[in-house]
Amino acid sequence: MDRYQGGGVVTEGWELVIGLEVHCELRTETKLFCGCRNLFGDEPNSNVCPVCLGLPGSLPVLNQRAVELAMAIGTALHCDIRPSTFHRKNYFYPDQAKDYQISQYDEPINVDGWLDLPDGFRVRVERAHLEEDTGKTTHAGASGRIHGADYSLVDYNRSGVPLVEIVSAPDMRTAVQARAYATELRAILIASGASDGKMEEGSMRVDANVSVRRSTDATFGTRCEIKNLNSVRSLGRAIDYEAQRQVALLESGGVVEQQTRHWDEGTGRTETLRSKEEAYDYRYFREPDLVPVVPDAEWKAAVADTLGLMPAQRRARLVELLSGGNGAGGNDGDGDGDGELRVDQIATVVDLGLDDLVVGAVAAGVPATLALARTANEAATDAEAARRLDGSSYVALLTLEASGSLSATQAKVVLGDLLLAGGGDPAMLAKEKGFEAMSADSLVETVGQAVAAEPDAWARYCDGEDKLAQVFVGKVMKATRGQANGKAVVAELQRLRG
Ligand code: ADP
Ligand code: MG
Ligand code: ZN
Repeated sequence: MDRYQGGGVVTEGWELVIGLEVHCELRTETKLFCGCRNLFGDEPNSNVCPVCLGLPGSLPVLNQRAVELAMAIGTALHCDIRPSTFHRKNYFYPDQAKDYQISQYDEPINVDGWLDLPDGFRVRVERAHLEEDTGKTTHAGASGRIHGADYSLVDYNRSGVPLVEIVSAPDMRTAVQARAYATELRAILIASGASDGKMEEGSMRVDANVSVRRSTDATFGTRCEIKNLNSVRSLGRAIDYEAQRQVALLESGGVVEQQTRHWDEGTGRTETLRSKEEAYDYRYFREPDLVPVVPDAEWKAAVADTLGLMPAQRRARLVELLSGGNGAGGNDGDGDGDGELRVDQIATVVDLGLDDLVVGAVAAGVPATLALARTANEAATDAEAARRLDGSSYVALLTLEASGSLSATQAKVVLGDLLLAGGGDPAMLAKEKGFEAMSADSLVETVGQAVAAEPDAWARYCDGEDKLAQVFVGKVMKATRGQANGKAVVAELQRLRG
């Protein structure tokens, strides 16, 4: 049963506050401090050595590539890239053979950045620091959790895999925003080449800090941190559940205890894992076997040069195309105020990696609104095929539609064929289908018949009821089985009206 209601709904009079901590595994060849392979899915305990098993006398050597990918993340998130140091975070758990984790503590490599959501909402990023991953424990038994397990297995392949932990400020106010943040961050991690962003393989793991406060409160409430969120959908569900739990607790006179809680996907609830540990519990101290990392300006510039366009920049590129240039932006003749639709179309096209198709088509002279609409609505239905589609076929098709040689209906049919074949000559495909453009004469004739058949609608249209044009367009389309060009019909109606 789906308990997730779409998010963002908290009880009247209460406000939700969310900060996310995202761990992502870096796409390096080897681990953070040793030469073992960094690869998901290998035979357990096959990628291990004295360093990542924490054997006495072994020494860590920092992976330069991991530092560069961390810098790439920092650059993509507009962070200040700082001189940084490593600390030992001391705690016992069987998946961590050294009994401490090497992590960046008070001097992280990236600080003070931000991420813009597609709707323009800005979430601040407090820090994005380097650390090593732990191994993986598997608890055998009914629950799959340590309580009640028959026995547990440990795989150290993941131990020492490089991670960057990205900590947001507590800026989000709804589960919808938290989901959008995780989605956008994932796209940035993939676009920067830093991570594969696979949540199902654990390359990207999200913890949610959630608190609630009365709308009139000036300070934040006590937060709980929720672990085990394996998908963006779980993130939204868990936040909504947790918010309701805290509100109910406070309204009945209780207090929220700062806790680490576990999300149970099956029951749709969070439950106590442990009371929240404090930094001093870990007895942090400087890692004596590693020197500080001090990226100079040249190195930072070199990393920045390797970065392609980030999703936000790619969206901005489309916004610009739509607002400028070939007169296709503000007025496309359909007169609908569809800014929000455009935002959605742009987000879709960028998410699916189809924005280059739009940019290429517009550069070749196709009106931007048409290129965007066909890409977001039709090409997007088979994005994989669309990404492989030959750009010049796409341009040729859209040009036929823009010039009125093909109606919208016909163009969509031909596009379906192009996607199946990966390209082709749209003019020829259209001809094979019998999609001849209507001659100007027969268009005039058909429009005349439609007008004659609807004298009342015609009179009102002549009096200025513009939306009645759709009555005639509909009749003409029906009569020509979609062959007529809607815009040409409207132009003829306007000519007749005088
Ligand atoms: P810790 O080091 O204990 O994990 P931090 O201060 O680093 O604590 O915060 C961790 C995360 O919790 C951050 O993402 C931050 O935005 C978030 N956070 C802090 N205070 C709150 C709060 N009151 N409600 C919700 N989230 C919070
Ligand atoms: Mg933390
Ligand atoms: Zn190793």
